[in-house]
Amino acid sequence: MLSTRAKSLKPSPTLAISAMEKTLKAKGIDVAGFGAGEPDFPTPDHIKEAAIKAINDNFTRYTPATGTDELKDAVMDKFKRDNGLSYTREEVIITCGGKHALFNLFQAILDDGDEVIIPVPYWVSYPAMVELCGGKPVFLETYEEDEFEIDVKRLKSLVNPRTKAIVLNYPSNPAGSVYSTKTLEEVGKIAVEKNLLIISDEIYEKIAYEGYNHISIASIDEKVKERTIICHGVSKTYSMTGWRIGFAAGNKDIIKAMGNIQSQSTSNPTSISQVAALAALTGPQEPVKQMVAEFLKRRDYIVRELNAIPDIKCFNPKGAFYVFPNFSSALGKKHGDKMINSSTSLTEVLLESYHVAVVPGVEFGKEGYLRLSFATSMDVIEKGLKRIKEAISSLK
Ligand code: PMP
Ligand code: GLU
Repeated sequence: MLSTRAKSLKPSPTLAISAMEKTLKAKGIDVAGFGAGEPDFPTPDHIKEAAIKAINDNFTRYTPATGTDELKDAVMDKFKRDNGLSYTREEVIITCGGKHALFNLFQAILDDGDEVIIPVPYWVSYPAMVELCGGKPVFLETYEEDEFEIDVKRLKSLVNPRTKAIVLNYPSNPAGSVYSTKTLEEVGKIAVEKNLLIISDEIYEKIAYEGYNHISIASIDEKVKERTIICHGVSKTYSMTGWRIGFAAGNKDIIKAMGNIQSQSTSNPTSISQVAALAALTGPQEPVKQMVAEFLKRRDYIVRELNAIPDIKCFNPKGAFYVFPNFSSALGKKHGDKMINSSTSLTEVLLESYHVAVVPGVEFGKEGYLRLSFATSMDVIEKGLKRIKEAISSLK
């Protein structure tokens, strides 16, 4: 009954874990949830009010399939203001979430068998989307001891005539790692030399901590800009995960193809959400600063506490709201009769016996790690870390 593609596709593990968390909570179980990667703050009031006004003004019909001109202009202003990048309306598309921008993009650029280089650890949906679009994910290992920086020689060794694109995501999900300007320049150089596209997922640009100044790879030089498609959105910056507005900017032929795909599949992103996103991008940015200040407090606490657990190491994220601690010292131990032989079995013990929900590192391509989202209250973080410490000390 099912297509081969659908048969091999599993649901997003991050969304599956947050769903599991919700089910347990509905049963009255006090779960400390570190699963979902979504800000726990309400969407700022001025954004909600803009959406309510849009409904009352009957702005409830189809818009152009690729988004309204007003929102495209606001996105263009954002790129100019924040990244020094000039785009025309033809080079910008509004999508039904950042995920949808990426999906349209893979649909637009991949033929069967085309290879896409994805640095590991990666956000769960990149390989799945590449495969759904007929492409082949090719993994580029990066390591905690190098702060998950790309080794340019290793990158070069993966490029072959089938290589179509490389995916960059910084600040990254799951590690919160970023790339130095030197790395961005070198990756840009390789892309130009080898005729690769760069897919730069900069959705966590604004969730950045002290000292990190985000530079878009598209701003390296004009040649790099020509082959870079930036994927972005309002979900994380403005606590708007449910509104489903993303955007992308880059080469106008690719953007046009993404628009054709969108016009034949979803049509326009929700009209009301587009008005809300316009208010988000053009309105006061103070709520973003407040949210980031709160994330910073949580990051400092969670990194300190995780590093205080014997034999556990945690990289200090420069951005986003995840930590990706190394729990490999727990592998090979036992919890009661249960052997802990993978990040998945450790995750099961944490959920079943300690009611802590985390995502196994293997879902991001790295065994021995766990991902914890700290987009949750300090109370939950304190409670959850206490339970994790207890769990780790109980392993024999
Ligand atoms: N890219 C990354 C790296 C993400 O973590 C997410 C979170 N889901 C997205 C894209 C897409 O977010 P959304 O579809 O909510 O805009
Ligand atoms: N990006 C978020 C996460 O990684 C949301 C879940 C998803 O879209 O998969 O948790």
